[in-house]
This record gives sequence, structure tokens and C-alpha cells, in this order.
Amino acid sequence: MDLVIRDGTVVTAGSWARTDIGIEGGVVAQLGGEMRAAEEVDAAGRYVLPGGIDAHVHLTPSGSGPNSWRWVDDFDTGTAAALAGGVTTVGNMSHPDRGETMAEALARDGADGEASSRCDFVLHPVLMDPSASEVASIEKLAAAGHTSLKVFLSFRRFEKAVDGYLEALRRAAGAGVLALLHCEDIAVIDCCCAVLRDEGRTHPRHYPESRPVAAERAATERAVAFAEVTGCPVYVVHLAAAAALDACRAGQRRGLPVYVETRPLYLHLSRERFEEPDGAKYAGAPPLREREDVAALWAGLAQGTVHTLATDHAPWRLEQKLDPALEAPDLRQGVAELETSLPMLWWAGVNTGRLSLHRFVEVTATNPAKLLGLYPTKGTIAPGADADLVVWDAQRTRRIDGGEGRSRAGWSPYDGWEVTGWPAMVLSRGEVVARDGLLTEAASPGRGRLVPRGPTQRL
Ligand SMILES: [Zn+2]
Repeated sequence: MDLVIRDGTVVTAGSWARTDIGIEGGVVAQLGGEMRAAEEVDAAGRYVLPGGIDAHVHLTPSGSGPNSWRWVDDFDTGTAAALAGGVTTVGNMSHPDRGETMAEALARDGADGEASSRCDFVLHPVLMDPSASEVASIEKLAAAGHTSLKVFLSFRRFEKAVDGYLEALRRAAGAGVLALLHCEDIAVIDCCCAVLRDEGRTHPRHYPESRPVAAERAATERAVAFAEVTGCPVYVVHLAAAAALDACRAGQRRGLPVYVETRPLYLHLSRERFEEPDGAKYAGAPPLREREDVAALWAGLAQGTVHTLATDHAPWRLEQKLDPALEAPDLRQGVAELETSLPMLWWAGVNTGRLSLHRFVEVTATNPAKLLGLYPTKGTIAPGADADLVVWDAQRTRRIDGGEGRSRAGWSPYDGWEVTGWPAMVLSRGEVVARDGLLTEAASPGRGRLVPRGPTQRL
């Protein structure tokens, strides 16, 4: 063996055992039994988990030039943050520029990621224009390993071409493609923003009213209907409201392939944050919701109606978030979460007993691996699987300081929070890429690979 991890408590979605893991050629070669290696890691008293799979991030392609509306992390810095936080695979949204096809955007972003990503990645083509040729390309993209498709119900262009998008979902269904749907209704949002402007209530504290639960619920109900009529499995990204989760649960009860992602922001923070003087920094789409919504998401994670945790890592510098020129309807949305997502979930979920160890593994690794068509190469610990592993120190406490993190954001919404449960060591395809929160030399830009995917798997 190249490396053996001794004596850790190895946890998967379905089992746990105190055992040794033998790694050879970047994959798990053996679990338990006699083995010897040049390098040994003592994991006694620690957990060994599958590396995190964050299905939803926004890393700006390098070379896209200075642009005040581009997120501040690229593959280099974004995946540095990911590895430091125990995430070994990211799913990046591949946004075509104006006039660019999905295939062209994927080629551009794929080359960029292969050149500068520190961890493995997949790309989600964003369908901006449901023209006949773009819709016809879905099967070809799926055959090339891009078995997901992102659609924004929150864009005006969606309302103008719903029929084209539904045709796209029909094609996606036949090609084993998962539809990732941003569920906020643009007509409702526009109406709410008009009301706020008419009433002169455009201060950032009114941000939640610009994108209310009604917008999220309406679009989510539509997404469930889309799954029903097209047969396409739908994955509701960054669900925030209990009412939207109710809509998904109703669909799930009817046997529809409706999957739900939530995001750390919605598990750890609630709406009253917008009353703070710098409340604009918490803006995401959807906005932070009420405490009852937070409780519903935790219950959904524990019960299985919420299937994955993903960050929607979309970082900005603090001065960009707090830009005084921005009013409630046009705040910059998104925060940096890749480095803190897993420790925060562990601390607030596993440590409090709200989430079992197995559910932690399921929502952070196994479920995203299945839905994205990566399982069982990724998302579990088994012979033949990639040796993407996290040796987890459940005792370690650290104070979050985004200024010291790898994201160019330079701040975290959780700055100053004391969090217990951090990665002691992170391995990507058998290479030790992080130790005690610090990247190793092996974690170099360009070592990450664009992972080819199979069809989406149902949960
Ligand atoms: Zn997003």
C-alpha cells in the first residue's frame, strides 16, 4: 500500500467500524485485515469520513477580468478553501456568456478548472437560452459526462420561454440528467420590489421583503409540477422556507423525484440579522428566513426530506456586500462558506444530537455523489472508491476568522463563532492535501480533475 490510515472509526452512510484503510494508486484498496505501507497515519480516537461533495458553488473563471459582478474566488482560491474545510469535490456552475453555448462554456471552464483547481470538480451547464440547438445539445453533454442542468426560475428570461425550458427538462429526463432548479418566482419578486420602491422602503433591511416566501413557494410548487409532467428528477437548490419544503414533501409523498438542497446560511442564521447595521452582508437568494424555517430545515435534514447540504459558495469582499449604493432589490447575493460548511454542520448538527453521524455523511457526501452520478467512485469509503477522505477531529475547537481563510472574501458570516469539530487531515485521491486546517504542498493548483459522471441516481 502507499498509505494506511490506522485505527480510525470509519463512517459511511450505512455503517461504521473501527478499522484500517489501505490506499493504493489513489483509491481505497482494502478495509481491515493485514496491510503494510510506506506511510502510516494514526487515526485512533478520530472519525474517518468520505470527503465532502459540495454540489453547488460559484467560482469565477480565471481570466474573466476585473468585473464588479463576478464572485471573488476562482478555482484556485475556492478549492483551497474547500480542501481546508474537508470538501474534496465541488460542483461549479458553468454560466455561458452572452452568445456562448453551454458546450463552449463547459469547454472554457473545464480547461480553467483542470489548470487551476486543487480538488476534483464537476460542472453544471446553466441553460440560459432554451433554443432548439441548446436543448438538443443536452443529450450530447450528458454523454460527455455532464449529467446535470441548471435552470433559474428567478430570471426574467425564464418567464419568456417556459415552454422551451420544459422541453429541455423532457430531454434531460431521457438523458439521465438532474435538473437543478433555482426556485424563486421572478414575477412575484418584481412585484415586491416595485412595492418597496413605491413605498420608499429600499433600505437593505427590507431585503427579505423583496424576495418573500411567496416567491420561493410558488416557484418550488412549479418545480414539483415540472418533475411530475416531464419525469425529470428535480433538485431544488438552496431551499430556505418551510413552506417550500412542504411543497417538496408533498411531491415526494406522491413518489416524484424531488430532491432538496439547503445551505449553511439557512441553518445557522435567521431573518432578524437584516436589522443589524451591516445586515446587507447576509444577503443570499432566497433571503434568510424565520427561526421556524430554520427548525424545519434541520428536521428535514434529519428525516430525509432535505437530501444535501451545499454552500452555494458565491463570495464577495465585505465592502462589495456593504456598498452603500445598493438598495434592497439589488444587493450582492452570496457569501463564502466552503471552508466552514462541514465543521458548522458537525458542530450545530452532530454535536447537538440533531443529526446522526450517518446522516452527516449522507447529506455531505453520499447523496450528492448519487444525485450527481459520481457514486460509488465518490461519496463513500469502499474498496475501489477514490481515496477522498477526511480524518475528523471531533474535539477540536476553533474560532472562525474569515480573514485567515483561503477565500478572497476575507470575512465569514460566522466570524468569531467558536466551532467544535474540524478536519485533522484531508486526502484527495490518496494524497494528503490538508493537515490541521493548513494545505500541504501536494494541494497544488491544477491537481484537480474534471470528473466524468454517469446518469443521476435516484435516492
Ligand atoms: Zn448558486
